[in-house]
Amino acid sequence: MKLSLGKLLIPATMFIPVVQAAPILIKDASVIMTMEQDEAGKTGLISNKDILIEDGKIAKIAQNITYDDAQIIDASGKIVMPGLVDVHNHLWQSTIRGCGADKTVTDWLAPCVFNSRFSEEEAYNAVRFSTFDLIASGVTTVVDWSHAFTPPFVDGNVAALQDSRMRYVYSYNVNPIYSDHIRKTKEVVDADELGTFQLASRLSMSFTDTLTKVVALSKELNAELNLHYLENAKDRDIEQTQSLIESGAISVSLLLNHTVVVNDEEIDMMAKANAKIAYNPMSNMRLASGIAPVGKMHEKGIEIGLGLDGAVNDNSNYFSLMRAATGLQRVKHQDATVFPTVEDTLYLATQGGARVLGLQDKIGSIKEGKQADIIVINPKTTNMGATHDIASQIVFTAEPENVEWVLVNGEVLKRDGKLNLPDEELQRLIQSNTAVIAKQKAL
Ligand SMILES: [Zn+2]
Repeated sequence: MKLSLGKLLIPATMFIPVVQAAPILIKDASVIMTMEQDEAGKTGLISNKDILIEDGKIAKIAQNITYDDAQIIDASGKIVMPGLVDVHNHLWQSTIRGCGADKTVTDWLAPCVFNSRFSEEEAYNAVRFSTFDLIASGVTTVVDWSHAFTPPFVDGNVAALQDSRMRYVYSYNVNPIYSDHIRKTKEVVDADELGTFQLASRLSMSFTDTLTKVVALSKELNAELNLHYLENAKDRDIEQTQSLIESGAISVSLLLNHTVVVNDEEIDMMAKANAKIAYNPMSNMRLASGIAPVGKMHEKGIEIGLGLDGAVNDNSNYFSLMRAATGLQRVKHQDATVFPTVEDTLYLATQGGARVLGLQDKIGSIKEGKQADIIVINPKTTNMGATHDIASQIVFTAEPENVEWVLVNGEVLKRDGKLNLPDEELQRLIQSNTAVIAKQKAL
């Protein structure tokens, strides 16, 4: 655990070194879904090629590459694609899975979110637990909108993200009294080649004075602002659009989550402001929030990515997320051709997410020169089986268990179907989360 803010009292067993071998050669990939635009469609399918990875980057894509001493990943019969990008999550929420099962977001927040108490170590454990679950599902980049309850919580949270070796965006929910700690945290995240720093805050007319200060900090630190916006109908009562405008937030670089009940004027405003959107269909279903008008936003040229949204979705199954992203719009419009189509959904999951985060030059597709954030999917299982249409089967039939290899920056985080997580470590993380739940229930 490098670059930690404070001294964490974490047992040595927690640090499981991920040994980065020499170059990696992915051999004989039956299909590489590059996600680069091509004449045939957005998925850019190529067949029977090798991928050489050196210094964390995709060095070469060609047939019959040979390289002495490279670690070989046999991808014959398998599908290789870019790692999945989760543009909205709250990783500490592995401690509140199952909480408030019959509540909408407004009623869910008080007992499930604001009733949480963490030590630094418990924050570390909760976040680390989520990172394993995400990696298992093929997620290589995650945006962690952190409630940042206390500075020690933040220290544990950031340390866990760094130890995960995932690519991450840490969104620090600003409490102005912690401004020194916010600056220090930004330095720590900026020093990590896998990290990006954002500021997070909340929208409400009664909170506008504070949000105005957050906007000033966003400009000063040149940090994007990450907000939940019009997630459900009740957010209208707290005049979020007025707060967005009066605080000046609409004038800075913005990532807006949910945008479920936005009207046409608000969509125009978001497009004009070049705001980016996190579409969270599983969360919106769980909390009975509604269906985001992503087709209209897409028509206006707004960049959209997919978000799991932490415990409100209760799991990190990114394939379920893709199914919901497609399916909810079909239900709403009673039309199987509406945005996002299957290919659109795969685009949102990879290139789209990368664009939302401004990382499109580094990740989001398989292309020489890009960072090696790559997953290998084995379709030869009962849930996938014979291939009729690859893109469709990834969205409609794949599961995390099909993800055999996960690479971030050329580093192997899931190997031949297995996480780098010994059972005793898994049990220790579950025990830590159980202790947090017990504290929460006792309050
Ligand atoms: Zn959220």
